[in-house]
Amino acid sequence: MFDYMIIGAGFAGSVLAERLASHGSKVLVVDRRNHIGGNAYDFYNDAGILVHKYGPHIFHTNSEKVFQYLSRFTEWRPYEHRVQTSVDGQLVPMPINVDTLNKLFGLNLTCQQVEGFLQSLAEPREKIVTSEDVVVSKVGRDLYEKFFRNYTRKQWDLDPSELDASVAARVPVRTTRDDRYFTDKFQAMPLHGYTRMFEKMLDHPNIRIMLNTDYNDIKDEISFRKLIFTGPVDEYFDYCYGKLPYRSLNFVHQTHDREVYQPAAVVNYPNEHAYTRITEFKYLTGQEHAKTSIVFECPTAEGDPYYPIPQPQNAELYAKYKALAEALPDVHFAGRLGTYKYYNMDQVVAQSLTLAEKLRQSKPVRPATSVVHLTSTLLSTSETVQALEENDGAAA
Ligand code: FAD
Ligand code: UDP
Repeated sequence: MFDYMIIGAGFAGSVLAERLASHGSKVLVVDRRNHIGGNAYDFYNDAGILVHKYGPHIFHTNSEKVFQYLSRFTEWRPYEHRVQTSVDGQLVPMPINVDTLNKLFGLNLTCQQVEGFLQSLAEPREKIVTSEDVVVSKVGRDLYEKFFRNYTRKQWDLDPSELDASVAARVPVRTTRDDRYFTDKFQAMPLHGYTRMFEKMLDHPNIRIMLNTDYNDIKDEISFRKLIFTGPVDEYFDYCYGKLPYRSLNFVHQTHDREVYQPAAVVNYPNEHAYTRITEFKYLTGQEHAKTSIVFECPTAEGDPYYPIPQPQNAELYAKYKALAEALPDVHFAGRLGTYKYYNMDQVVAQSLTLAEKLRQSKPVRPATSVVHLTSTLLSTSETVQALEENDGAAA
């Protein structure tokens, strides 16, 4: 009998498993893939280069709590991500900054002058509702068309005017020379990769892991008190209100017989090609190698659900599933798919830490007979919980 069965070994499932196990619960983690780590899984390919199977994952957060928590399981390699984008036949920094504009238009504007320049291009909007509004109101139509419109259409198969403002708002516009993709306080990559970090997180005597196993195939075979589901929430409810839309990607991995492939970690291609961007992994990991590995991201409607699609009608549909979820006292949903949110890794960690704390406070009460039996097998009695909490405190 497990206290918790957790479906999904990605960030959500692994953080919850680690937290609950550390507080004395016995946990089974199940994933239908043949590896842990979810979409953040990385591995050494045949050439010996560390690559991210499901596209580039760059860790960044403003949350000290999240960063400190993950630091229990990994050392870090400081890394600030930089992206170039291919526009009008040249590569320029993305997000749009002073250098982007000067290079694109052959100008020599200062930071102060750029503010006025952008204001002269911007189309004021009364309300910012869509991704088109966000961009056009800051940089005007021409730059919107060059940098955002086609990339977004390719990535989502939707016009920016059909997508929530929050999507394009992920990418700022700067009136400085800062060419970093993110400005978060903590920006770093796990020194030995994400998978190693997940291995450490899940290495606990109270955690068991079952890979290559779909929840549906074992749900009636295993005894557990509570379920945590980090797969797609609509799938859990057999799509009873219809399918929640997700966007997928095909990842095309290549290794080239040269040391460097491109001038930046990521090059975006808004206006040409079927793919949106190419990532060269050695920039992210700092690995030195005579060869180099890259990945192309080709958006598609079919395939694994990677991106919840932020649109009002989808939020409404999700709200119906959420209501069903909330009516189940012993089932909890977490993560990007379980809560249908376009979350970064750090947001999923924060969400999972909060849920773990809530669950710890409402710990399942065991029948008296099982307590006697389970005490000897390191399960949650008040004594063992206290001891684990003390260890926990020391680790923190
Ligand atoms: P997942 O990682 O998707 O894990 C869910 C797991 O559940 C999966 O392993 C799946 O196999 C399993 N599962 C689902 N259903 C079942 C079932 N029925 N039975 C058994 N197992 C099941 N975030 C960043 O912060 N920085 C980035 O640079 C970044 N880049 C990204 C790039 C791409 C291309 C993508 C797609 C995402 C990126 N993200 C990035 C987001 C990041 O991947 C997510 O925030 C994070 O991985 C979500 O973790 P999760 O545990 O919620 O979901
Ligand atoms: N985007 C764009 N042009 C770019 C980069 C991003 O139009 O060069 C838009 C696009 O809609 C994309 C969104 O901004 O889906 C968010 O970009 P981000 O790089 O955060 O996407 P992710 O890494 O999550 O795929």
